[in-house]
Amino acid sequence: MNVNSFSELVEIAEKTNVSLDKVVLHWEMLDTGEAPEKIIEETSKLLAVMEEEYKLNEGKTFKTLVGLTGTNSKKMLDHLTNALIGKTAFTAAMIAVNMAESNAAMGRIVACPTGGSSGVMPGVLLTLEKIGVERQKLVSGLIVAGAIGKIISKRASLSGAESGCQAEIGSATAMAAGAAVHATGGTPKQVANAAALSLKSLMGLVCDPVGGFVEVPCVKRNASGAVIALLFSDMAKAGVESVIPFDEVAEAMGKVGRMMPESLRETGKGGIADTPTAKMIVQKLSNRFKL
Ligand code: SF4
Repeated sequence: MNVNSFSELVEIAEKTNVSLDKVVLHWEMLDTGEAPEKIIEETSKLLAVMEEEYKLNEGKTFKTLVGLTGTNSKKMLDHLTNALIGKTAFTAAMIAVNMAESNAAMGRIVACPTGGSSGVMPGVLLTLEKIGVERQKLVSGLIVAGAIGKIISKRASLSGAESGCQAEIGSATAMAAGAAVHATGGTPKQVANAAALSLKSLMGLVCDPVGGFVEVPCVKRNASGAVIALLFSDMAKAGVESVIPFDEVAEAMGKVGRMMPESLRETGKGGIADTPTAKMIVQKLSNRFKL
């Protein structure tokens, strides 16, 4: 099955009335030789890692590599009942920050699609689990998310060093939005719309980690990714469509990435990494670590 676009997967699912996750499993089998049962098993294990790690880390503070983050998810948990944005969205943001802080503290994460963006997917999936979405549906959602990521990697990139943060947090958000739609009973077209709307909203996002460490702004961007994913999942399920199809959005993201100067692609030289405060932080770190 020589599929190069997400719209082909959506079309096959609609024509055959086979669920999108099953179409993706067949595509994967023909593409990689991996049996569907094996892929389901492996995907379930990835979800288990997210579940176990969050269970271990809920309410904890973290000692991260350079200490620019580590207490934010705990603060957010304490604020949960007062969240103006609503409990579900704030829970997603809080879990996303928790997992991203764990990543910054060298904890076990699922790079989905990367370490820097590893909070977005668990933020969304574990929140859905908390509100009663069946685990098996979350595994199906994660399988669909894998296809979204794979198409982005074919048409653009999943690397901040190559295409900026739009390729990391942007892709993670598109994947999580698609997963949320699928896991909660949305149609294949709604999955594609949620992914397209998410990626469009983060188009152009630069990669600008302070000092080159995956802490600032990375950790908090995971929170925004998780909330944006839930927003566009709901909008797509409400019937809002992306004027530009997902495949073209992914293609455009790749082009934007290729236009980005090196300073905005994980070098720690541009964006917020180039602010006076960031420079002062880096100076202090250099003195502390005698760099
Ligand atoms: S700013 Fe760069 S390093 Fe940080 S999450 Fe985004 S792409 Fe990754």
